[in-house]
Amino acid sequence: MSEQHGEPVVDLQLDRAHSARIYDYFLGGRTNFLADRTAAASVLSVFPSAAVAARINREFMHRATRALARAGLRQFLDIGTGIPTSPNLHEIAQGVAPDARVVYTDNDPIVLAHAAALLRSTPQGRTAYLQADVTEPAGILTAPQVRETLDLGRPVALSLIALMHFVPDGGQDRAHRVVEHLKAVLPSGSTLAMTHATADFAPEAMARISDIYAAAGTSVTYRTEAEFARFFDGWELLEPGITLAHHWRPDGPGEATQVTDAVAASYAAVARRP
Ligand code: SAH
Repeated sequence: MSEQHGEPVVDLQLDRAHSARIYDYFLGGRTNFLADRTAAASVLSVFPSAAVAARINREFMHRATRALARAGLRQFLDIGTGIPTSPNLHEIAQGVAPDARVVYTDNDPIVLAHAAALLRSTPQGRTAYLQADVTEPAGILTAPQVRETLDLGRPVALSLIALMHFVPDGGQDRAHRVVEHLKAVLPSGSTLAMTHATADFAPEAMARISDIYAAAGTSVTYRTEAEFARFFDGWELLEPGITLAHHWRPDGPGEATQVTDAVAASYAAVARRP
């Protein structure tokens, strides 16, 4: 990062495809550029339903957040937020509970550049944005944005939606250790909502997608159902347990019956700390 007129200048690397912008493109957003759209086209050529899968993932976030706000959660920590796409998590949570407080975190300067849209809180509630990497959980938990917005002595709804497949194991179980670190500091009644890409249903297409991301400099680690389940160890899975993303408490019969597991390609679950 360099400085210009006292303002930090971020290199947004517009000439390189980027996971947050590829996802934005699949969601129909406008924060994507030629390199992102070229990579997205490659993904679509091997996995034509990528945009459906992205929407299914996003809609799980809506349903899970709404369910947690209705269950009484008032504090949300969303890591790997992504480029703002309305409705964002705070709009859903504050739609149920206007006093809900939300901290958003992403490691991508592109998300930071658009964070203003994430900061339009209700007057009763509060939102904050923190640029940080999930692989440094201690830094997140001690950041002023978290400390000043959330009371970590009271239940927190942690969300890691479509994030942990971007964290490799590094031969040391790194992804699971990161999640355990976050879980360990959250008090009883806290929740963990996650989705995670899997190659369990369409292994060949998924392998080709990870090649496309790797060429853009992003490593993708698919995990099996058992590996996904292990993220929730010690916490109680809420009904209906681990499902494909479109099967988690669907609003109606619609997509849940039309979409196959190979199209969703993503596990989802919400668990609660006893
Ligand atoms: N959670 C949103 C966006 C998912 S896209 C949703 O489900 O709709 C994945 C996001 O994770 C991207 O914005 C990317 O920048 C971010 N990300 C990837 N690796 C990360 C890391 N190590 N730490 C924090 N954020 C990360």
